Amino acid sequence: MVRARKNDDEEPPNVDKHEECMNDLDLGDLYPNCLCGRRARLCTSWTNANPGRRFWGCSNFRGDLNCGYFRWHDPPICERSKQIIPGLLRRIEGVKDMILKATIKMLVLQQ
Ligand SMILES: [Zn+2]
Repeated sequence: MVRARKNDDEEPPNVDKHEECMNDLDLGDLYPNCLCGRRARLCTSWTNANPGRRFWGCSNFRGDLNCGYFRWHDPPICERSKQIIPGLLRRIEGVKDMILKATIKMLVLQQ
């Protein structure tokens, strides 16, 4: 069986950090089948090397039945985006952290 391979110089996409699967998109017959014979899942990578780049993966990618299917959906990310997007994501996480801390402080003061 031939498995779909990603380029060797690419790091594996991190879907745990910011999973954003897009199976709700109406792509008609554009869904490829993974090696399991199921409809592949379209997900978004949030690694520093491929921020926001979508890829197709096995619909069982979190389970033991993951067949290892992988194929990029989007073209490579430009160097400028690789520099900018991870910084923006870190800023978002910082703002979320500030909101959480402020909310906790407010709840403590209300008691
Ligand atoms: Zn599969």
